[in-house]
Amino acid sequence: MPAFGFDHSYARELPGASVAWQPTPAAAPRLLFFNDALADELGLDAAALRAGDAAALFSGNALPSDAQPIAQAYAGHQFGGFSPQLGDGRALLLGELIDRSGKRRDIAFKGSGRTPFSRGGDGKAAVGPMLREVLIGEAMHALRIPTTRALAVAATGEPVHRERPLPGAVLTRVAASHLRVGSFQFFAARGDLEALRRLLDYTIARHDPELIGAPDAPLALLRAVARRQAALIAMWMNAGFIHGVMNTDNMAISGETIDYGPCAFLEAYDPAAVFSSIDHGGRYAYGNQPAIARWNLARFAEALLPLVAKADDEPAVQRAVAQAMEVIDAFPAWYAAELLRGQRAKLGLAEGHGDEDAALAADWLALLHAQRADFTLAWRSLANAAEGDEQPLRALLAEPAAADAWLSRWRERCARDAFAPEARAASLRRANPWIIPRNQRVEEALAAATEGDLAPFEQLLAALRRPFDERPEAARYAEPAPADVTAGYQTFCGT
Ligand code: AMP
Ligand code: MG
Repeated sequence: MPAFGFDHSYARELPGASVAWQPTPAAAPRLLFFNDALADELGLDAAALRAGDAAALFSGNALPSDAQPIAQAYAGHQFGGFSPQLGDGRALLLGELIDRSGKRRDIAFKGSGRTPFSRGGDGKAAVGPMLREVLIGEAMHALRIPTTRALAVAATGEPVHRERPLPGAVLTRVAASHLRVGSFQFFAARGDLEALRRLLDYTIARHDPELIGAPDAPLALLRAVARRQAALIAMWMNAGFIHGVMNTDNMAISGETIDYGPCAFLEAYDPAAVFSSIDHGGRYAYGNQPAIARWNLARFAEALLPLVAKADDEPAVQRAVAQAMEVIDAFPAWYAAELLRGQRAKLGLAEGHGDEDAALAADWLALLHAQRADFTLAWRSLANAAEGDEQPLRALLAEPAAADAWLSRWRERCARDAFAPEARAASLRRANPWIIPRNQRVEEALAAATEGDLAPFEQLLAALRRPFDERPEAARYAEPAPADVTAGYQTFCGT
């Protein structure tokens, strides 16, 4: 296959952090999805790729001539328990491309067969979960939330064995990098400080080049990653996104959302919402995400600690602990500021009035919770309310009059704000999506695709790519699921 123009900086600069490995050939590959816009962004010739044997390419049967596939090593805390060796058990990094805007992007397979890190797993993936990663990733991108994205999905023509046989598939994923908290934990757990230092330098060069040569570079990286996570988790919370498996190996250093397994979006607002079938304790519940992010960052800090400390005597280590703790302790305030910034936009406010706005947003959420209101549509209905029509909001509430007090406070606050009313409604419609990936629509599309019918998937994808435009023909994608469907909804991990 023609070359992609790959570089291989990760393999070159980080010896011992990966294993060269080949994908398992697919029996009868067929292209299910190809992302023309993303290919173009990467500087690839989308038309030529489509015209060639894209199925062979994106199933791993015929790689670009300059691909040098590797399985990356990493460790991680999964549901709080540490595994010193996880690694790419069913993924391979093919190489890196410099995209049209000059950014380095990883191109990686997921579901391409067993690797030395597969442990008991089969290294495979099924069509449904890989198309799910397409749908949610593209939806997040359209919602302007940093995310890895899908370039292609190819069916392998072979079954994978889960509770029942399912059609297999390989996803080609594009990421700012696949560096994770768990990448650092891998070397820290082995006490390999030389490799840890190299990983630090590599990460800084790739994601935070302004820190090259900084005197407190490890601490500065911790701070930069914590700030990115504060911004990311705030965006998740303001979109009603539940990642579902925020293990430290699934927290990207880049600040992108990564690994769409058991993720879901809120329907009715409920901080305790959890959909993952294996999350019995609600560790990764919607409302727990900021606290878990902080917990994961504390694990990142621990991994970096030997580099933060200027010496290995007790006072130096104590000083490093205190410095790292300062960053971890600052996280809740950074998160709160990011959350409020997003909430202010979602409330249609141009100016900031700190505590007052935070209270207004908190009381709004309390109202939605008490009234079991649909999270997405309730926010969206503020645009109508800004135009004088409160009916769409009231129709979402169990008791329509419950909104009276809050609405008059909001109006009073808006009256003191710089926005003209028309500008406010338009701004509200840019901040509050009309369409999010509704769980029942996603399931419906994936079930059809698993049976060989891609039309519902394609229609849903088209709807998700325009989340802010209200249009009658897309109404079925904006509808909440019936409450009993949501109450029984479960998502599955590692599938
Ligand atoms: P995830 O929860 O998808 O982030 O995966 C956690 C770990 O399990 C990673 O090391 C994966 O590579 C590995 N893994 C997940 N599914 C499989 C599979 N089917 N075969 C082999 N390894 C897997
Ligand atoms: Mg993962």
